[in-house]
Amino acid sequence: MSSDERYQALKGMQDILPPDIYIWQKIEAAAREIFPLFGFKEIRPPIVELTSVFTRSIGENTDIVEKEMYTFNDKAGRSISLRPEGTASVVRAYVENHLHNLPSPQKFFYSGPMFRYERPQSGRFRQFYQTGVELFGSSSPKTDAEVILMLGRFLEKIGLEGLSFQINSIGCEKCRPGYKESVTGFFSDRHDNLCPDCRRRLNLNPLRILDCKVGRCVEMRNGAPQIIDYLCEDCKTHFDKLKSMLSAVGVKYTVNPEMVRGLDYYTRTTFEVTSGTLGAQNAVAAGGRYDKLVKAFGGPETPAVGFAVGMERIVELLKRSGQPDLPVPDIFIAFIGDAAETQSMLIAERIRGAGYWAELGDSEASLKSHMRRADRLSAKYVFIIGDEEINSKTIKWKKLSDSEQGETPISGLTDFLLENITRH
Ligand code: ATP
Ligand code: MG
Repeated sequence: MSSDERYQALKGMQDILPPDIYIWQKIEAAAREIFPLFGFKEIRPPIVELTSVFTRSIGENTDIVEKEMYTFNDKAGRSISLRPEGTASVVRAYVENHLHNLPSPQKFFYSGPMFRYERPQSGRFRQFYQTGVELFGSSSPKTDAEVILMLGRFLEKIGLEGLSFQINSIGCEKCRPGYKESVTGFFSDRHDNLCPDCRRRLNLNPLRILDCKVGRCVEMRNGAPQIIDYLCEDCKTHFDKLKSMLSAVGVKYTVNPEMVRGLDYYTRTTFEVTSGTLGAQNAVAAGGRYDKLVKAFGGPETPAVGFAVGMERIVELLKRSGQPDLPVPDIFIAFIGDAAETQSMLIAERIRGAGYWAELGDSEASLKSHMRRADRLSAKYVFIIGDEEINSKTIKWKKLSDSEQGETPISGLTDFLLENITRH
């Protein structure tokens, strides 16, 4: 690289910096607060897995596997991939660590980066973050309702309103084949008008046509067969119970019969949360039931349900409703002279020990420039320490918001902090 070239982050990948990071932290804190109230524990699978972990679960003929995976050979020639989503890794971990031997249901949440080689655009990145949950060992529609309810509580906790919940059932291995056949028939008649991707999907994965975002494919869907009319008795009962439970706990939803989701592993319930204000990439969270996946990974038959929240999209929504309060130093210590410099460091340590943020001025600076810096940092209080203060074992203080001033004995430092400053 020559000296006039600049290093840049890879396309579709971004640095998350202050002040945005405080929004991220607020969301992550809400996840850590809400999910455990429903019994979910954190899990941290690796970011890289054998490629087959993803291809087998997400499905060979999905956008993610066909086009979007970061796949490499490692030095031993194994094909490995950066995870494009969380569920496959969590299921692999569940089976590999025999977590099915623990009492059911087992509930996990995760949070971290995902990677998809997509065309970067608003709301779509190549490294993006998801916070998600997975619940193993319950086939009850009550569980689906509870997971959706928990997602609602989480979004409420971070202050997001006006989002809409859409639900659907995509049936099971009994009823979906019949539906697939009808869909194939419907679109075969319209083959020539489909986009090139959908023409291919017609043979490989016809349900995906219902998910296509190309204008002419969207139009053509008018009058397509709807899964709701093809559900078997068990799937229908499951869906009806889910709907009545959501209503009972006050979750407002709409049924979207076109929501088939872009991953192959779903069975029965699928759901999505969308925002009316995000434009084309409007889904902020998505999930569903995947009753066959644990078995496919070599575990026992284990029904499961989960969701993933797209962090960038909720950060974007929160940014629109106002910037977060930036943290400011509690105390800025301005000192004059060498003796006071050492004393300042000791006092700063006591302040931090008591749980408050202390900033120290620079050695060379004059009192005036110390004060200027304290101002620029919006410190709550300035402590001024010079020879005189060392002799009298006191600190001069000044409150920057109203210029109130006073003195406090160094021995009473902790009391001063407790009385005057709310801790972080
Ligand atoms: P989309 O229809 O937006 O492509 P998807 O079906 O690929 O979504 P999932 O795999 O279900 O999405 O992921 C769940 C959530 O993760 C999405 O609802 C979205 O909020 C977020 N997400 C997915 N892909 C990206 C991306 N490339 N950049 C940012 N967020 C993403
Ligand atoms: Mg996608």
